[in-house]
Amino acid sequence: MDEGRRRELLAAMGIRLWQRRPDRLPWPSGQEMPTEGPSKPDEPSASPTEPEEIGVEAPPHPTSQEVPVSQLDWEALQARVAACTACAELVANRTQTVFGVGVRDADAMVVGEAPGADEDRLGEPFVGRAGKLLDAMLAAIGLSRRENCYIANILKCRPPNNRDPRPEEVANCLPYLERQIELVAPRALLAVGRIAAQNLLGVTTPIGRLRGKVHDYRGIPVVVTYHPAYLLRSPLEKRKAWEDLKRYRKLLQS
Ligand code: URA
Repeated sequence: MDEGRRRELLAAMGIRLWQRRPDRLPWPSGQEMPTEGPSKPDEPSASPTEPEEIGVEAPPHPTSQEVPVSQLDWEALQARVAACTACAELVANRTQTVFGVGVRDADAMVVGEAPGADEDRLGEPFVGRAGKLLDAMLAAIGLSRRENCYIANILKCRPPNNRDPRPEEVANCLPYLERQIELVAPRALLAVGRIAAQNLLGVTTPIGRLRGKVHDYRGIPVVVTYHPAYLLRSPLEKRKAWEDLKRYRKLLQS
């Protein structure tokens, strides 16, 4: 039977023929192979049952790059982040990616903005001056990254000169944080700073109006407080941050 007729019959039976994906074609020599950005969390994966026996071409076996971020385990997720090249400017400037730190099944999870110079150098979130203050704030409500808390940022790479993350960078990186939150499954989230809070909650509300109430991220309660770097510059605001921390502690205990 000729190929055209075979295709017609299969189509009439409602059987789709698998097409080779363009990214599996040989890449022109002399050019770097393009690497994939973070997958969309809801990308469907290829069906594992292939009708090979009726002559339909099987889809390629998914490589780890093709597994959606939303299905990666901790090790694969960390490796995917380390290999990410989605944001050219960040990749060109980073020493390393900064994945996250702490207890991976903690009740408490803190979300920050992005690594700074110290974090970029050491590969761990919140290790500079602001990090020391964050540790003290967490200790005040019985939390520590070594024992009962996980910490991650919206961006895994340091923005040059500590500029704000760009919307396309957040869009590229957010699926990683979303998966981290899913894996930790915290009882409550603490968003520190405007950038963390707005991007986590998908709003543009000023931080002053986000503070003081409990928000929702996919069924997980979220408390918003000031970024410790801001508190270092504005120590009088520490009183308000303490109110936020007490609200957060209460959620963890409820
Ligand atoms: N500020 C952040 O938001 N995250 C860090 O990891 C360090 C500083």
